[in-house]
Amino acid sequence: MGKVAVIGAGPAGMAAAVQLVRQGHEVQVFEHGRVGGTLWNAGLVENYPGFPGGITGRHLAKLMEEQLYQYIDSIIPEKVNNIKKIDAGYEISGEIYDGIILCTGTIAKKAEFSGEDEIVEAKRLFYGIENLEHWHGAKEAAIIGGGEASMDMALSLVEAGMKITLIHRSEPSGIKSLSDIAKTEENITWLQGNVGRGRMHENKAVLALDNEEKAFDLVIVAVGREAVMPEFEGFDIDEPPAGLLIAGDATRGGLGQTAMAVGDGVEMAMIMDRFLRSKNEDNK
Ligand SMILES: Cc1cc2nc3c(=O)[nH]c(=O)nc-3n(C[C@H](O)[C@H](O)[C@H](O)COP(=O)(O)OP(=O)(O)OC[C@H]3O[C@@H](n4cnc5c(N)ncnc54)[C@H](O)[C@@H]3O)c2cc1C
Repeated sequence: MGKVAVIGAGPAGMAAAVQLVRQGHEVQVFEHGRVGGTLWNAGLVENYPGFPGGITGRHLAKLMEEQLYQYIDSIIPEKVNNIKKIDAGYEISGEIYDGIILCTGTIAKKAEFSGEDEIVEAKRLFYGIENLEHWHGAKEAAIIGGGEASMDMALSLVEAGMKITLIHRSEPSGIKSLSDIAKTEENITWLQGNVGRGRMHENKAVLALDNEEKAFDLVIVAVGREAVMPEFEGFDIDEPPAGLLIAGDATRGGLGQTAMAVGDGVEMAMIMDRFLRSKNEDNK
């Protein structure tokens, strides 16, 4: 049996870790954010089997975490910055592993308007709603982006009692089941335009939109996501060596879904199991 590091505890990482432990391997999970990953941003998840009527992303994340802790004792709450290939396997912070499953998912892209960082520093601009429970005072929020994620997050914020201005550059696009609800929601105002710049004024985020300025308690940027990975030493990730596998949104950018990530996690754990068994046979 082997020692495997799972990097990231989103749906892919949790599914991989559970399967690896079931197969008899020693597993170390690393997670520098919230266990559950991007799922914390999802409102109603309707397409994950087993939950008739759907389940909120945060509830599903908590259930997955509960299940994970039935198989592992602890998670290292750290960001893995570097993975080094060595003869014996892989090294992370001085610790040696026989195999690695990278489940690092995605990070949100910036909107790239001038003044964006100033509003981030003032804690009035975020790239997701995973910390929604801390924003009780916010009443008026802007969401920048006209895709499925922005509609989903707009509906979650409306449910939390906020009025939303959804700022979109081009025609909004999203899965029908979501856009049908979002487009008839009276607390969502749709505004076609471009955010040119932003600034803080009297504790509010002020966005300059084409010809006018508007002030908000909160700004959420949802203009897409991209895969994120640590640095690699001794190999090129485009040609991963044996024993290094990738699962979930980290392989797909922002186009993945939870069931796909979970499926990937289980599949990569099974491939890892075969790799470790044949390595053990070779060493006999
Ligand atoms: C608004 C929104 C709505 C969505 N709605 C749905 C839906 O209705 N149905 C559905 O199926 N899917 C939905 N999704 C997509 C779903 O959330 C993702 O497909 C899923 O979470 C991907 O899982 P993952 O494990 O691959 O990655 P992630 O969930 O992104 O998890 C990756 C984890 O790795 C951690 N990590 C990254 N780098 C490191 C590092 N170097 N060291 C340690 N930890 C690290 C991160 O902190 C994160 O916790 C939605 C997504 C969004 C944004």
